[in-house]
Amino acid sequence: MPKLKSVDHTTMREMNLALVLTTLRLHAPIARSGLSNMTGLNKATVSSLVRELLQKGLVREIGIDTTSSDIGRPAINLELNPEAGYIIGAELGVDFISVIVTNFAAEILARRYESTLQLKSQEEILNRLIRLLKEGYQEVARNQRPFFGIGLGVPGLVDDADGTLIFAPNLGWTGVPLRTLLEHELNVPFFIDNEANMAALGENYFGVGQDSDSLIYINVGVGLGGGIVLNGQLLPGALGFAGEIGHMTIDPDGLECNCGNRGCWETLVSQRALFRYVKEAILAGSTSILSTATGGNFDRLTVPMIVQAAQQGDIVALQSFEKIGYWLGIGLAGLINTLNPECTVIGGTLSLGHEFFLPVVTEIVSRRALRWSSQACEIAIASHGTDSCAIGGIATVYRKVLSQPTGWLHQENGQYQPR
Ligand SMILES: [Zn+2]
Repeated sequence: MPKLKSVDHTTMREMNLALVLTTLRLHAPIARSGLSNMTGLNKATVSSLVRELLQKGLVREIGIDTTSSDIGRPAINLELNPEAGYIIGAELGVDFISVIVTNFAAEILARRYESTLQLKSQEEILNRLIRLLKEGYQEVARNQRPFFGIGLGVPGLVDDADGTLIFAPNLGWTGVPLRTLLEHELNVPFFIDNEANMAALGENYFGVGQDSDSLIYINVGVGLGGGIVLNGQLLPGALGFAGEIGHMTIDPDGLECNCGNRGCWETLVSQRALFRYVKEAILAGSTSILSTATGGNFDRLTVPMIVQAAQQGDIVALQSFEKIGYWLGIGLAGLINTLNPECTVIGGTLSLGHEFFLPVVTEIVSRRALRWSSQACEIAIASHGTDSCAIGGIATVYRKVLSQPTGWLHQENGQYQPR
């Protein structure tokens, strides 16, 4: 009979540390005895693990547990230490770059945001990204805080092994060795993933999906992206490309998509689709305040402009959001049938107009998805709005530290060293 390979002591200790940290993340404040009960680890082991975590500042004591029935010394409650160190979360969007600096509780301490619409080349955009990341990192360095790393979301497929941006259809980029390039400029750990995957994790750790073990995140911006969390884990797929829901064919004879296919879901549900619906209605003769607001130049349309028009009862704006809601509902009904999630979170720029399309989405889903699955699924708007992806960058680094704490506990230069 083959012998099972035994887990070495160091690995076992890291697994136990990760278990304690995750239990604190989900259930703090808890005393050591509570941790022992919840993790199944004996009290002496928990004490030893907590001592190490306290010494390195990942955990802190926060007063007496008044619910404890233990006789003898009063129990002291513990929680993850928000001041353990800093994290940077960032999003390289199709037409903007966003960078946030947070503490270890995802509280935003500084931010940078710039439009990249005027930048023409890949080099210009990457230089801008590097400058904004460096400015964010200066905030950390100025305060001499420990630093865990940078989580960066990008609008495309990412090779998890080396952090290469393989294909970003809406940027028109292929094969950019992003992690190598960025680590060369800024010598800190980088974690790079698809924007919607990151946002899914962000909402799952720090947002509206905190109580859901399974959720679908849908980012409706320039394109349509998705991230799927199942059993508390981000679904990677065979190559890490799962969640590219925007490129499901919904209309076989539909418009050409930037991915090369025709009739993808994002040709019907995205910022571009919304602008097209407005333009088509006006060109077909409908009157709208958007005609005067844009001076007839549809390139001037923005999502906030259409939201404002809808708030004023503009029929073209309202009907355009209805179309978004209809097609969003059609695709979502299929996803809900397939994945049976507890929660669907809608984020991205279009979520600004949620009051006008969400009722339609809910109605279409209730009509098209299996009743039992749709009734079990809450459809919510992302709680971090347009910050969801950057907060997801924070969550990505945070999750890494909690699951592989040894890289932090054994560091000497105030910088996380992931394996
Ligand atoms: Zn496509």
